[in-house]
Amino acid sequence: MTRASRTYSAGPVRAVHGITLGEVRVRPKNIEGTGTPMLWWTLTARTWSPWLPVHAFVIEHERGLLLFDTGQSPDSLTDPDYYPGGLLGWVYHRQAQFRVPAEQTLDAQLAELGFAASDITHVVLSHLHQDHAGNLAPFAAVPVYASADELALLEQKTPELHGVLSRRIPPAGVALTPVAFDADAQFDLFDDGTLVMLPTPGHTPGSMSLMVSPTDAAPLLLVGDVTYDPALLACGIVPDVGDRAAQLATARVIADLQVQHPELTVLAAHDRGALATLLAQTPQ
Ligand SMILES: [Zn+2]
Repeated sequence: MTRASRTYSAGPVRAVHGITLGEVRVRPKNIEGTGTPMLWWTLTARTWSPWLPVHAFVIEHERGLLLFDTGQSPDSLTDPDYYPGGLLGWVYHRQAQFRVPAEQTLDAQLAELGFAASDITHVVLSHLHQDHAGNLAPFAAVPVYASADELALLEQKTPELHGVLSRRIPPAGVALTPVAFDADAQFDLFDDGTLVMLPTPGHTPGSMSLMVSPTDAAPLLLVGDVTYDPALLACGIVPDVGDRAAQLATARVIADLQVQHPELTVLAAHDRGALATLLAQTPQ
């Protein structure tokens, strides 16, 4: 299953579609961390995870068509200059491998839903890693949101050291719009409570999630790479990637959200169960 759709019978959110924009395999510590330094497991890991999906989500709202994350670029597999050279490039290839089957390009997946990239009116990026911000070129004319803390990575001397391929992301002509969270640490896209961005830092300094609240179903929390598996997150197990203390704090924030919303459905970008979970979303 590479796509799944939920439609809603009432309210501003009309449908949520999970799509698959490539596949990734990573090192085991990238999924189930134990506090090991990233450099250590990058150098020593001998095994890979199974191939996992690179999910993105398309949300039909009465005020627009939103894309949450943009997936892995097929160019990453054919362009010899896509990655940095030298030691840094070697580290990228040690940490993750990708493939993008023809039926999993952004255009192909949108076409299966009856859409084109030109129909998208808003893009929200969970973070700036290549498998989430890899297909931004079609979005020069629409707002593309990322958190201000994430955009600050682009101002670093070498964003590539922080996992951001700054020669590609953003592509020429595409502007990224910083999200200004309010005093409650929220950004309500349409001021109707249905699409609310939340800071969920740790995997990267500016990682954020999107809470989607349909009228007649339990809310969804699209978390990007906060976890690879919501069951691990619920146990307080976070990847050995990024800032461990920040990730554990984010895990507590999400646990609190689940207390407020007992039926909250957490959808992770690389969870093989995410599309089935979307289909099983609790009606209310
Ligand atoms: Zn990812």
